[in-house]
Amino acid sequence: MSFSMEIKRELTRIETSDICCKDYELTGIIRAGIVLKKYKGKSRLFFTTENASLSRHLYSRVKELYKNSPDIFILRTRRFRTHTVYRLEFTHLLGDEMKNILKKMGISLIEDGEKISYEKIDINNRCCKRAYLRGCFLANGSISDPDRSYHLEITFPNLLLTLECISLLKEFDVESRYIRRKGHYLVYLKEGQEIVDFLNVIGAHNALMKLENIRILKDMRNQVNRIVNCETANLEKTVNASVRHVDSIKYIAEKRGLESLPGNLREIAVLRLENPDASLSELGQMLTPALSKSGVNHRLKKIDSIAEDLRLSGI
Ligand SMILES: [Zn+2]
Repeated sequence: MSFSMEIKRELTRIETSDICCKDYELTGIIRAGIVLKKYKGKSRLFFTTENASLSRHLYSRVKELYKNSPDIFILRTRRFRTHTVYRLEFTHLLGDEMKNILKKMGISLIEDGEKISYEKIDINNRCCKRAYLRGCFLANGSISDPDRSYHLEITFPNLLLTLECISLLKEFDVESRYIRRKGHYLVYLKEGQEIVDFLNVIGAHNALMKLENIRILKDMRNQVNRIVNCETANLEKTVNASVRHVDSIKYIAEKRGLESLPGNLREIAVLRLENPDASLSELGQMLTPALSKSGVNHRLKKIDSIAEDLRLSGI
C-alpha cells in the first residue's frame, strides 16, 4: 500500500464525536473533490476516488449528517493495470435540501446548473480547521514515499480554495506554496519538518511517527556516511605519506646507504620500510622507548628533507 493510501486509511478511522468537526471534514472533502460532469446529456455532481475506505467514509458521513445518501457506482477500468474506481453521485439529491447543504459549504451551481461556484467560508473553531484540512487531503491529497523523497500536495480546482488552504495552514505555522498545473492548483510542502507538522494538524499520528522514524534513520545513515568518508580520507592521507616516506628512504639507501643516517633516523627508516601500512602512532609504539605521533612525524620529515637535498644535489 502506498504511503498516501496508508495515511488516508488512518484518517478515515479517526473517531470523533464532534458534529462540528464531522461537518467541516465533509465540507473539505466536497469542496476540494466534487466535480460537475456532463453525463448522458445531464450535468451531474460526482466525487470519484480509487480509495475504497474513503468512498465508504464519505458515504456514511453524508448519511449520518444529512439522512440521505449518494449513489455509489463501482467502475473497473483497464489502464496499465486493473483499477477499481468508486464514483459517488450526488445529483439526485439536488433538491432544495441539497442546495442548502451545498450553500452551507460555500458551493452553488450557476449558469443553469452548468458550473460550480465557490464562496469563501469562515471556520471558527481550531478543531474544525483541522477537520477541514483533513477533508481536503482525503479528497485530493497525496504524499510521496518518504523513503525516496519528501513531497506532499493537495490539488484544488481554483485559486480561492488554494489560498484558503494556504492561509489555514499558516494558522498552524505550516508554510506551504502553490503552483498552477493543467488548469488546477497544487498546494505543496517540500520539507520533512513541514510534512510532519501537517500530519500533526490533520491528526495522522501513526503516519507521523512512521515518517519521523524514517527521518531519524536517514539522518543516522548520513552521519555514518560522513564518518566513513572522513576515515577514508584519513586513510588515504596515511597511505600517501607512507609511500612518500618509503620512496625517500629507498632513495637514501640506494645513494648513500642507510648507515649514513643518524641512529634515531635510521631506526625509524627501517621500521617504516618493514611496516608500510602502519600509522605514525603505531610506528611510535614500536620504538623503545615509545615515541609520540608528532615525534615520529618529525623524524620522517627529516628523512624526507635529506632525500630531497640528495635529489637536488643530483648525486
Ligand atoms: Zn470542530
